[in-house]
Amino acid sequence: MKRRKFIKNASLSGLGITIGGSLKSCVETSSDEANVNKSKAQLPLVVATWNVKSATAKAWEVLTKGGSALDAVEEGCRLEEANENGQTVGKGGLPDRDGNVTLDACIMNAEGNTGSVVYLQNITHAVSVARKVMEDTPHVMLAGKGAEKFALTKGFKKENLLTDASKKAWKKWAKTSQYEPIINIENHDTIGMLAIDQQGDISGACTTSGLAYKMNGRVGDSPIIGAGLFVDNEIGGAVATGLGEEIVKTVGSFLIVELMRHGKTPQQACEEAIKRIVQKPKSNYKNFQVGYIAVNKQGEIGAYSIHQWFSLTAFQNGRNQTIQSDYFNKNS
Ligand code: ASP
Repeated sequence: MKRRKFIKNASLSGLGITIGGSLKSCVETSSDEANVNKSKAQLPLVVATWNVKSATAKAWEVLTKGGSALDAVEEGCRLEEANENGQTVGKGGLPDRDGNVTLDACIMNAEGNTGSVVYLQNITHAVSVARKVMEDTPHVMLAGKGAEKFALTKGFKKENLLTDASKKAWKKWAKTSQYEPIINIENHDTIGMLAIDQQGDISGACTTSGLAYKMNGRVGDSPIIGAGLFVDNEIGGAVATGLGEEIVKTVGSFLIVELMRHGKTPQQACEEAIKRIVQKPKSNYKNFQVGYIAVNKQGEIGAYSIHQWFSLTAFQNGRNQTIQSDYFNKNS
């Protein structure tokens, strides 16, 4: 990753972003961001994992036109899914070890309804298929060929998702076939997005091509409600990125929402969820990354990861900013 300049230890609250805990963060410097709006948090807002300013800007546009949080997160995720240069989401996503691009996605609305797709092939907009599962079927999850067949009946276009760039990367990897779910320091990965609309309603979505060069058939946390995403409109929402197996084992996003229900700020709740992973007996957390973001009903934001270089993008108070999250392993 190209290293950028950071202001160390600026707090999110000093950036016009409402933060519920003691988060210390590092913020990209720019003359624009130096002039931050210190006004009180107000709705709407959108937050997403990683540096995805175009996606949060798209969602913000929907929200400020009076659109729903659900439409906002879907539109924001779709933008990244269509971006062929992004190798972790939708078209252009890196394949499994056998060369198949397989997508996982889910969506959850303010009524507590949800839809998800796992192991979806040949369809770019997995998040929209997940929404159709939620709205047009009596089920919450469709997998593989069934999910693809359903998408085609709903008018989605069949496409080859393996771009030349991703094919090249996979062929290079296949020379050694060394599989390490590495600590991810890229600024682009699973896109998890949470939004609160002008009515104060919360929705979330999550979309990914999963871990690069995973075993064929592997499904991560991103389409599993409670793991990769959870929303409770009375309380708040949370989304995850990183090594899905660890997120599933601790039901991370549901845990964060429940901790907020019991009085923790989004920041405290994210920190506790990371602790549940790193404090497990025999945890080998030094070898993998997990990052969480959360919002509560008051529009406060939290973020925490195991290692450095996890970032989130927040569009709030009219400002779209990418922020480095605080992290557990200060020696990383
Ligand atoms: N959480 C995703 C998965 O395990 C990958 C990621 O966010 O890096 O499939």
